[in-house]
Amino acid sequence: MATVYTGWQQRCRYSVAANAAVRLGEGSCLPSAKMGSRKKVHAFVRVRPTDDFAHEMIKYGDDNKTIDIHLKKDTRRGAVNNQQTDWSFKLDRVLHDASQDLVYEIVAKDVVSQALNGFNGTIMCYGQTGAGKTYTMTGATENYKHRGILPRALQQVFKMIEERPTHAITVRVSYLEIYNESLFDLLSTLPYVGPSVTPMTIVENPQGVFIKGLSVHLTSQEEDAFSLLFEGETNRIIASHTMNKNSSRSHCIFTIYVEARSRTLSDEKYITSKINLVDLAGSERLGKSRSEGRVLKEATYINKSLSFLEQAIIALGDQKRDHIPFRQCKLTHALKDSLGGNCNMVLVTNIYGEAAQLEETLSSLRFASRMKLVTTEPAINEKYDAERMVKNLEKELALLKQELAIHDSLANRTLVNYDPMDEIQIAEINSQVRRYLEGTLEEIDIINLRQIQEVFNQFRVVLSQQEQALESALRRKYTLIDKNDYAAISAVQKAGLVDVDGHLVGEPDGQGFGLGVAPFSTKPGKKSKSKKMFKEQLSSSARKEGASSPLSGKDLDVSASKTQLTPSSKDGDVKDMLVRDRETSNTEPLASDSPKEELRPPRPSTPPAKPVAFEDFKNERGSEINRIFKENKSILNKRRKRASETTQRINAIKREIDMTKEALNLQKSLREQQGEYENKGLMIIDEEEFLLILKLKDLKKQYRMEYQDLRDLRAEIQYCQHLVDQCRHRLLTEFDIWYNESFFVPEDLQMALRPGGSIRPGMMPLSKIVSLGEDDQDRFSQLQQTMLPEGPDSVSFYNAKVKMEQKHNYLKTMMGLQQAHRK
Ligand code: ADP
Ligand code: MG
Repeated sequence: MATVYTGWQQRCRYSVAANAAVRLGEGSCLPSAKMGSRKKVHAFVRVRPTDDFAHEMIKYGDDNKTIDIHLKKDTRRGAVNNQQTDWSFKLDRVLHDASQDLVYEIVAKDVVSQALNGFNGTIMCYGQTGAGKTYTMTGATENYKHRGILPRALQQVFKMIEERPTHAITVRVSYLEIYNESLFDLLSTLPYVGPSVTPMTIVENPQGVFIKGLSVHLTSQEEDAFSLLFEGETNRIIASHTMNKNSSRSHCIFTIYVEARSRTLSDEKYITSKINLVDLAGSERLGKSRSEGRVLKEATYINKSLSFLEQAIIALGDQKRDHIPFRQCKLTHALKDSLGGNCNMVLVTNIYGEAAQLEETLSSLRFASRMKLVTTEPAINEKYDAERMVKNLEKELALLKQELAIHDSLANRTLVNYDPMDEIQIAEINSQVRRYLEGTLEEIDIINLRQIQEVFNQFRVVLSQQEQALESALRRKYTLIDKNDYAAISAVQKAGLVDVDGHLVGEPDGQGFGLGVAPFSTKPGKKSKSKKMFKEQLSSSARKEGASSPLSGKDLDVSASKTQLTPSSKDGDVKDMLVRDRETSNTEPLASDSPKEELRPPRPSTPPAKPVAFEDFKNERGSEINRIFKENKSILNKRRKRASETTQRINAIKREIDMTKEALNLQKSLREQQGEYENKGLMIIDEEEFLLILKLKDLKKQYRMEYQDLRDLRAEIQYCQHLVDQCRHRLLTEFDIWYNESFFVPEDLQMALRPGGSIRPGMMPLSKIVSLGEDDQDRFSQLQQTMLPEGPDSVSFYNAKVKMEQKHNYLKTMMGLQQAHRK
């Protein structure tokens, strides 16, 4: 007979997903939906009672659900045609001779009670004029017994509210009439509403569809609600007279809005729902009769809106349709969130029982059976009260903090702060991270999650600062050309100084050096690259001015006198080496310290990786400092081992003290049980107890001694650690100088740097030496002396000036070097 429409699932699943996102993300008062089970639209037929019932043509099935129609051939198009003559419609129930009471029970009761649980519901009456739509929906307003669905629904709502004292439920109502595609407020005549200035419009927002300008009335009791209903009914009749319109040509929508919040739970969720009770315009095919003027216009609107209603509902049932034509007319647009979808939907088709109306009856039954096939998936409209939600979350947060405090005190962790960190705390973590990277801090204690996150954060900060520092250090030393700055590269290429690969033109293979493209190494493990760079510069300028080296004399004095960590001769070695270093740096380059320097194999075309070079360095120029470093480290380790042994001994003694104490207490209590002896005011104790007391005394003495030892050891370890750190630092600084000299400074310059050469090292960055002549050097020294005393603010000015000069001299010097190579 007709297709089964199952399109609902898809649409509804989509709506759930969208709502779930809303719930997690925005958390505001947007609706969410809890799915119920899938349902078909419930379609009922109500037959208007008549004395002239067409028994031969209309037959009811025994199941109360089937209605069969039989048309005699000749009653339609004469004797000979192939027209269908028999139809059978199966619906949810055929209401024949049914009382208003029964109709309500069957049609509306469930929908209304579901509305109080958060499900939207729509009940519509469809059928030709006079078939009993208004009777079914509103009923006889003058006769209580014959009241229709509408007043009964209001009664049920208020009755259910009374039965649910745990919920605060509010009820509002509105009454809308749609006539010739215009909207009318049937409750606008109430004194407190006031005339609407602008015509009403249908508005859509994330919360649903509402009619802007339509009055919505809060009703706290049944009686008020009835008054509103009657007011609306009266207006319907008056309007039809004054405007000379046929009241059966308009659609009327009475809406009950329910909002329920729990009184007992401080739940931020609340439910809302709407019950739409729709009395549709007469469905008769007015267009067919020869209507004119106003009647024709009405007919067109009614036919259109009813067929749009049908289209929309059928589209809702079509799985393949993703666009539902709701906006085609005011009726479907206004009912957009109440038709099918997640609503409980009920259709009552009112028909005549007379033979004369059979054609319209057939048409109405066809409509009913199409609707019956549409599936809906009713869902609860849950909304969130943002204010309540914030309050609840605050409460929960406070509770969790208390919980955390209890856990901390149980775990003996006191004073753990879980609040966001302030600047001082962050600065402290930054300093910890720096000390950790330098090696002066063994480990960073874990306190809480926030602190761990901040530690990681500060690692990133320090890393990026070091990268920047490294880059600017390089920029001070070299003219760096951005690899992507093609203009700059091509300028240098044009000058004929480098080939496309960045090698110097005319340079023998294996002798080239980079364009000055920063020799960035991003390998891990170069933790203090930039620091080393700085220190190199610092120490060179310090050497020049004869100031103290990074290992100051003061430190050394302490080391020499206070500890026996290194044999005195070795101690002297360290000192000697450093003193010599200081002395010699004024007169001769460090490079000449090592005799192995002369034997160095030819320089490779690309510098070796730093870790590899570091191994070479330790065997070469750095061998002495490395040896001392290693020695100090081993002494440090020995001290650490001793400290750990002492700690173990202390713990053992402590355990024995505890045991002895226990034994003593036992003796004491035994003595007390057996009765005490006293002799001239002195307590008499037995030998065993006496020995225990002696033992305890002895143990305590041992404990104190070991503890003193441990304290001394700890001080030694701390100092020794300091020494090791200094050595490490020194080793790395020396290595950096050596590395640059060995792989980056052109060999011509190495010659000049050697004793007796024209340039003294340590005076300025090496790149300066490359780019400046003798006069420039003098000017540079002057500049350095005159600029720097102005304080740190002058540094950037100074850097800029030097850089500019570097740029000017770079090409010139390169050319000079190139010529020197050719010779
Ligand atoms: P509609 O709204 O469909 O145009 P109405 O509800 O106005 O039709 O019904 C037309 C007339 O028929 C009214 O006088 C109404 O009282 C009466 N009527 C309709 N249905 C019934 C019924 N089931 N029982 C008694 N009277 C009815
Ligand atoms: Mg009516």
